[in-house]
Amino acid sequence: MVTDIPHRASRKELCELHFHLGQSLEPQILWSIAHEQGIKLPSKDYWEFHDLITLNKEDVTWDDYHKLFHWTELIQSSPVAMERTVYEVVSGAYRANNITVLEPSFNPMFRNRGGEQDLDHIILAGLRGMERALIEFPTVRAGLILLLDRRLPVEKNAIVARKAIKYRSRGVVGIDIAGPKNGDFRYEDYRKLYDEVREAGLKTTVHTGEDGTVEEMAHVLKVLALDRINHGFRCAEDPAVMKEVAKRNLCLCLCPTSSLVLKFIKDTAHLKTILRTLIDSGVKFCVNTDNPSMLKTNLAKEIGLVRDAGILSEDEIDQTLAWAREASFIPTQPGKNLYL
Ligand SMILES: [Zn+2]
Repeated sequence: MVTDIPHRASRKELCELHFHLGQSLEPQILWSIAHEQGIKLPSKDYWEFHDLITLNKEDVTWDDYHKLFHWTELIQSSPVAMERTVYEVVSGAYRANNITVLEPSFNPMFRNRGGEQDLDHIILAGLRGMERALIEFPTVRAGLILLLDRRLPVEKNAIVARKAIKYRSRGVVGIDIAGPKNGDFRYEDYRKLYDEVREAGLKTTVHTGEDGTVEEMAHVLKVLALDRINHGFRCAEDPAVMKEVAKRNLCLCLCPTSSLVLKFIKDTAHLKTILRTLIDSGVKFCVNTDNPSMLKTNLAKEIGLVRDAGILSEDEIDQTLAWAREASFIPTQPGKNLYL
């Protein structure tokens, strides 16, 4: 029996700018998509599958974290799966959390079964799923961010960036770089590509200032033309880097639970120190989920975390939501979705 019927009237309109499609679907929907396509899973038992794609242990390593993407990305690796994934994520975010502005990200190169599937079909299917959700929920605004990855060679990442440009008018709003460290990866190799993407009217962000050092973040700021930053909380360690972030009006898209689970942020006291330092230094930030299904969280819970731990006041929470809306990559006029 349903006892807790959600209703918008009691809740704020939320905005989410940093979360990955690979870990944003409810496990039961992912299970259903896998079966729809006849994918052979490592278990025939739903609850074993559930445990396989969610984090269920105390000491999580960066490696554990990235391994969890294997099954979710494989299941999402077809046009049929991508259309349903984006449809479910966009419509579900509105129904469950009253999220009215959202920008899911994904890497099409990790959804083409090693080249068997056509990238254009994968991206277009995602856009179709987004449009279906936006027709059903017309007050929602959404745009897709294409991810580049540190593990891929620059040529493959350039293909993804140019697909983003190709589908700009259909609802791709920007690019991002994610993924674990790789000795061969150099930010300098992406300087021109980031400029090209911005000249084409798209926006750019990058994962930095989380697993790396504040020095690495300072380097990224020097090399790449950016519109905002994913994570980036390491800047709180260096006033000069905070000053640069504030000067360039770059909103940090933070993910509290994700960084706490990975121990990049030690505990809520450490989180409080970081967020208060950012506020005192004029650095804008917003709260996001990163990988909500894997981390068993959602945006309302993440905002509840900073509220209940006494880190931000209600007015400050509203301020972060305003910063998030201001930092959105979705080109639109007020009250009008560009893509419909
Ligand atoms: Zn992320």
